[in-house]
Amino acid sequence: RARAARARACEPAVTRDGTTVLVGVNAGSAADAATATGADLAGLVRTEFLFLGRDDAPGVDEQEAAYRDVAAALGGRRITLRTLDVGGDKPLPYVPAAAEANPFLGVRGLRLALRAPDLFATQLRAIVRTAHATPVSVMFPMVSTVAELLAARAALDAAIAAEGRGVPPQLQVGMMVEVPAAALRAAAFAPHVDFLSIGTNDLTQYTLAAERGNDAVAALADPLDPAVLALVAATCRGAGDDVLVAVCGEVAADDAAAALLVGLGVRELSVAAPAVAGVKQSVRGIDLAAAAALAEQALRAPDAETVRALAAPGH
Ligand code: PEP
Ligand code: MG
Repeated sequence: RARAARARACEPAVTRDGTTVLVGVNAGSAADAATATGADLAGLVRTEFLFLGRDDAPGVDEQEAAYRDVAAALGGRRITLRTLDVGGDKPLPYVPAAAEANPFLGVRGLRLALRAPDLFATQLRAIVRTAHATPVSVMFPMVSTVAELLAARAALDAAIAAEGRGVPPQLQVGMMVEVPAAALRAAAFAPHVDFLSIGTNDLTQYTLAAERGNDAVAALADPLDPAVLALVAATCRGAGDDVLVAVCGEVAADDAAAALLVGLGVRELSVAAPAVAGVKQSVRGIDLAAAAALAEQALRAPDAETVRALAAPGH
């Protein structure tokens, strides 16, 4: 019985009408990835684990070894390596940073990477080396403008050139959508990426102007708020048919969310390891036309509470 459940977890998640939705794992380490029975890929590897809590930056060899460990823990399935996402709220002793009154609106994510070009180049070279050995997607966090994305892509191209082995054939390039500006202008980013991955944790805090982790405004910061869903819809519309849209924020593991997100056009959900099997089961219960109708209703709902009631399993 346990074996049957395990086998089921390893099968693809296909909706009742035959649409495959990838279900990934969010991993903060190789040990995390190793517990993800049935994940189709790692949809988000938070590479910060290699950089925090130390006095100097990891070198290219150390990073490559760590990334290859994550891939091995997933049996060689695709890993999505998010480039360093730290900043004012998570300072690094070896990256100079000014104190900021509003670190979530300051130099974080890709903004910091672009200001620390040596640190960024080293990470990109390690990612490129890993991509020559195993399927890798690279993804940039906290992108607000197309110019930032193009600067990141130029740094990636420079790392590929420096490695001297050509473009790794299985390398895919994407960015996170966590800033409303990026969601609203998804069509302007789409020609430059293979995929977009919506980080609903940050997208929610920036949409509702309610700091994540601040209990006093936690009730406002609901990822099922119709305003956040409108930005998910805008992202899917802007992405068009050739660019896959994923969600890797915590809402992807919410029972109420799978049908809604798939109905809006999302085709990959990436969640913490213990949630993978359950999300696959939720996807298998989805009928795409019904999900699209549910999504339409949710977009017109007055508030998050109404959305939750609409989307509750068994509604
Ligand atoms: C997000 O913002 O939704 C996300 C997945 O990234 P993190 O939680 O690491 O900021
Ligand atoms: Mg984020």
